[in-house]
Amino acid sequence: MINPGSRPPRRATPRPSVLPVVVSVGTMIVALVLLVAHIASAAGASSQPAAAKSQPLAVQSASLTQNGQQLVWQLKMAQPFSPGALARDRRTLCLLIARSDSGAPTGQLCLAGPRDGQHAPQVLYAPISKGVTGRASAIAATVTRASNSDLTASFTPSAIGVSYQPLRWQVISTLGAPACSAPATGLPPAGSCQTLSPARATLLNVRTPQPSGCVPTKRGYVSAGPTNARQVALTFDDGPGGSPPTMDFVNLLARYNVPATFFEVGNQINQYDPTGKVQRAMLADGDMIGDHSWSHADLAKLTASAQRSQIAMTAAAIKKATGFQPCLFRAPYGSVNSSLINVASSLGFSTIQWDVDPRDWSLPGTNAIVSRVLAGVRPGSIVLQHFAGGPRYQTLNALPTEIKTLKARGYKFVTVTQMLGYKLTYR
Ligand SMILES: [Zn+2]
Repeated sequence: MINPGSRPPRRATPRPSVLPVVVSVGTMIVALVLLVAHIASAAGASSQPAAAKSQPLAVQSASLTQNGQQLVWQLKMAQPFSPGALARDRRTLCLLIARSDSGAPTGQLCLAGPRDGQHAPQVLYAPISKGVTGRASAIAATVTRASNSDLTASFTPSAIGVSYQPLRWQVISTLGAPACSAPATGLPPAGSCQTLSPARATLLNVRTPQPSGCVPTKRGYVSAGPTNARQVALTFDDGPGGSPPTMDFVNLLARYNVPATFFEVGNQINQYDPTGKVQRAMLADGDMIGDHSWSHADLAKLTASAQRSQIAMTAAAIKKATGFQPCLFRAPYGSVNSSLINVASSLGFSTIQWDVDPRDWSLPGTNAIVSRVLAGVRPGSIVLQHFAGGPRYQTLNALPTEIKTLKARGYKFVTVTQMLGYKLTYR
């Protein structure tokens, strides 16, 4: 909200001879001067355009919130304003970002006019270190304006050099010399040439975004991804399980910074991860979860209604455990018919097959699994392996060599949703 003490009255009479003194003496006098100005205004002094020019732009309301992966900065000013005119008028309108613990500023985001040939205003970010403001540069932000006095800018924390961690924020509106003598930086001295909204930096508990669902761009039957990018998707079926514990797979993949896709069997979730702890860990470090039916039955032999409940019950179990609604379905045994693909599609799923199958379930030995995978992978490959349904130590032990070799061959590891360009939604 607004700090009444620092908000200049809109119809204040200009007092150019007083302001420089005010700035050097401090806030007490500012308040006094503003009070005098307010009384003068209330007593019938006429509104003059010059009055607004001697004050920073007044913030009516400001907020910083998180929406999924984005931070959303919303500004409503007391009057229309043009980001493109700020610099010319010696004004700044910025969002100060500070550490949540010490309150030390880490940077500021300032509004500026559009780049040549563009319409949307720019957002410039400058780091602040030990009180010194660094060079500003434009960040990737989505800027929209509902009216001439509103502005909304959305950007990711990484665009301003921070991770998904709590931070403090405050909007600073300044007016620089000669109208005011306060410097137009992120840290001007207190005075009438700046307003801070809210009066004290506000804590925003930025948290790691949680995926809430995914949207297949195209539903149907897929056995490999685009071949024009050197990408590979590791997929694991039949878990969660206990030998080895699924968390061993999750941790090993995380150590290599490799995301994977886990196709889960509903009744295994009940047995091995009823609280969802392991599945939430998967999603938290970038893995994807898909639906592999409730009981691992051969769904092509079931009625459409049984197919539907096999998929829907597992999706519900995943959602209950994680809050995430999956959109990838893998048929047990790869056994499909058109009814099954249609049922999956009607429930919002794409049916995901594979193009590389090392038959790790038959326990051929770690070396055989490694060499079969390496022999099969090409750009766009979807690799089928298993993280449960039997002892899967061979599969786990095969992963380091598979990963290191494929990385050396220039492959990037992606989830199936990433490979197919499906969008994730976040909460
Ligand atoms: Zn399976």
